[in-house]
Amino acid sequence: MNFLTTEQQLWLDTVNRVMESEVTREYVRQCDIDRVYPYEAYEKVARMGWLRLLIPENQGGDGGTIFDYALMCEGLARYGFDFATAFMVSTFTAMNIVKFGSPAQREKYLQPFMAGEIRFSISISEPSAGSDAANTRTRAQEDGDDWVINGQKLWCSGAGADNAILAMLVRTDKDARKHHGLSVILVPNTTAGVDIRRLPTLARRATGTNEIFLDGARLARANMLGEPGEGWKIITDHLELERIAVSAAYVGNAQQAVTDALKYAHDRIQFETAIYEFQVIRHMLADMQTSVDAARLLVYRAAEMATLGLPCSKEVSMAKLFASETLQTVTRNGMQIMGGHSMLPEADMERYFREGMQSTIGGGTSQIQRTIIARAMRI
Ligand SMILES: Cc1cc2nc3c(=O)[nH]c(=O)nc-3n(C[C@H](O)[C@H](O)[C@H](O)COP(=O)(O)OP(=O)(O)OC[C@H]3O[C@@H](n4cnc5c(N)ncnc54)[C@H](O)[C@@H]3O)c2cc1C
Repeated sequence: MNFLTTEQQLWLDTVNRVMESEVTREYVRQCDIDRVYPYEAYEKVARMGWLRLLIPENQGGDGGTIFDYALMCEGLARYGFDFATAFMVSTFTAMNIVKFGSPAQREKYLQPFMAGEIRFSISISEPSAGSDAANTRTRAQEDGDDWVINGQKLWCSGAGADNAILAMLVRTDKDARKHHGLSVILVPNTTAGVDIRRLPTLARRATGTNEIFLDGARLARANMLGEPGEGWKIITDHLELERIAVSAAYVGNAQQAVTDALKYAHDRIQFETAIYEFQVIRHMLADMQTSVDAARLLVYRAAEMATLGLPCSKEVSMAKLFASETLQTVTRNGMQIMGGHSMLPEADMERYFREGMQSTIGGGTSQIQRTIIARAMRI
């Protein structure tokens, strides 16, 4: 019992089945080992029309709900959160064009995005702007009909993939108060003056996360998303959808970690018995599954509230906090249950574990989620 309607359960089953039989666990593993972006799977997902899910019908999409989207993220992440990131970062960033784009921007970008010909990345972070995301130093200055950008961005996931458009937070007014002088500019990753370098990170090895150097990158005025000064509003809205997506994906990956650990516990014989028969192992598995179920319920609540258009920043942060910490805990326990075997790529658990380590950092740290939750609590 997980409170899904028949249609929702069918949709989740479909995504899970495609992952199992068409994308495959082995493909996801190999992309991580080779540190290559999952282009073939991205094209497959585009062909199936899943990139259209959240785009409203009057803009050429399927007009699905945020709940449907969360289920897709849960299914796509089952063999690794990083794999799902390639799709999530593109789809949740596309929604910024839907919500804040001009008619010309929607016309230019949405159809090629839904066809899988272009993709999106979100570029907020900088060396001095991490949790303090509005401490943006990258500057965009007007020059004739253009914006000229100088500065440095950091940790931009998927920025180096082919045909990526970066939704980049920049400071356009240095005299305005901190959150007021910010704007979002759409920057194709092939723009002259944009130098993208993939970082050799512990996690996010397939989708890749990058530092970006901007040296006089020149973008036409038409690349401004929304109005100058609306950057923080766009990013705040963006982060809510991003956190629902990633929380659902943490749950999908955490569930697979529990299932893999359970199977191993049944298969592995020591002292003439399956290690599953040792109560200490069974209790670990029971705790792991209980945490994943609790995380799933928090994620579904947040996704349902967002679908209904209810204010839900506290509930979204609760989902992000608990689901990320669950992924981290169950994968650490999964490593323990699988013993030495867990260290090998073919066991998959070390990949899940690495993703668990980054999950409490990327998308806003656990400390920041707790701050948001506490701020929203009332006596
Ligand atoms: C794999 C990966 C992919 C990422 N992808 C993207 C991306 O695509 N686009 C993008 O823009 N960014 C991305 N990020 C950046 C991510 O959003 C930041 O790493 C995150 O917001 C934290 O910033 P920081 O790493 O600078 O840590 P810091 O902000 O320097 O934090 C360091 C520590 O101090 C704590 N801390 C900071 N401020 C407070 C406070 N007020 N109260 C309590 N504790 C605090 C933090 O919780 C943390 O434990 C990615 C990060 C990772 C690791």
